[in-house]
Amino acid sequence: MIVLAIETSCDETAVAILRDHGDVLSHEIASQADIHAAYGGVVPEVASRNHLSLLPSLVEKARAEAGLRLDQIDAFAATNGPGLAAALLVGVSAAKGLALGVNKPFLAVNHIEGHMLSPFFGLSEIPPHVGLVVSGGHTMLLDVAGYGDYRLLGRTLDDAAGEAFDKVAKLLGLPYPGGVQIDLLARKGNPDRFEFPRSMLGSGDFAFSFSGLKTSVRYFLDRGFEPADLPDICASFQEAVIDVLVHKALAAVRRQGRSLLAVSGGVSSNSRLQAKLDLACSSAGIAWRMAPPALRTDNALMIAYAASHRQGGNSDLAADILPNFDYARLAAA
Ligand code: ATP
Ligand code: MG
Ligand code: FE
Repeated sequence: MIVLAIETSCDETAVAILRDHGDVLSHEIASQADIHAAYGGVVPEVASRNHLSLLPSLVEKARAEAGLRLDQIDAFAATNGPGLAAALLVGVSAAKGLALGVNKPFLAVNHIEGHMLSPFFGLSEIPPHVGLVVSGGHTMLLDVAGYGDYRLLGRTLDDAAGEAFDKVAKLLGLPYPGGVQIDLLARKGNPDRFEFPRSMLGSGDFAFSFSGLKTSVRYFLDRGFEPADLPDICASFQEAVIDVLVHKALAAVRRQGRSLLAVSGGVSSNSRLQAKLDLACSSAGIAWRMAPPALRTDNALMIAYAASHRQGGNSDLAADILPNFDYARLAAA
């Protein structure tokens, strides 16, 4: 099956064409990050207008690169949520139009499912595992028995891990998006220099909370700090986030009786998180995997990959956009 997928849930306009589960025919991303950096965050109205102007040429570029006519594509997929409503509408409408135009199915894909399955890109089967999704807007642990068989174990009660990185980076005056800047500065810092809270570390469940940590960093900074302390502050903050993520992820794997952990979303690119997962998992006898770098932040290939498991599935032409993540539906699945 050849799938063309469109991703426009936030500030990346992306189109990919995938044959089966791992044969990449095209992979296009036009990031609007520079445009939104001027505002210090994503402006929904600006994002949707840019998706609208960027998407037609990006679809054509992807099609030409794949060397296919539109009618040689078997299905057209788009992220229909969660994300910014006006931004989602652009991608969903475009994919529905393409599908109708050549009389092929339209597949609506959940963005979080896209992130969640991305560590398995290329595989035709999703093995049983525990998934830790750590993206800009979501932090959750899921038990995955196989494709389509997901159970929510816990999620953040307030900020997402990526959001905490971005907000703390903003407090520190670092450029948006700040997660990667903190990672880079922290490499030169001492993670034990400052004590920041590990919220809910001992809560005995799989819920997370990162807003208290962010507030604690804000109070700390309000008391004044030397620019020379920046690496130690970054390292100490980062360590607080990672300690909780690693502790709860491993506890979830053990409790579910799984032997595999899959970590996805932009924060999975964090070098310290990767190093600590390596250590913790090898001593616990647990295998862990993540997506290739290009599939960790928003992209259309992960959406195409999620759609590639829907072979023979019904067309979702009537599907609406779902800007909010539907935890109840996921838990029921
Ligand atoms: P969602 O999928 O929840 O809607 P999103 O798509 O914006 O959110 P992603 O694209 O998966 O999120 O990831 C972006 C996030 O990853 C940002 O918060 C960014 O700061 C963070 N991030 C990227 N690289 C790193 C890194 N090396 N260390 C920490 N955080 C990082
Ligand atoms: Mg983004
Ligand atoms: Fe995302």
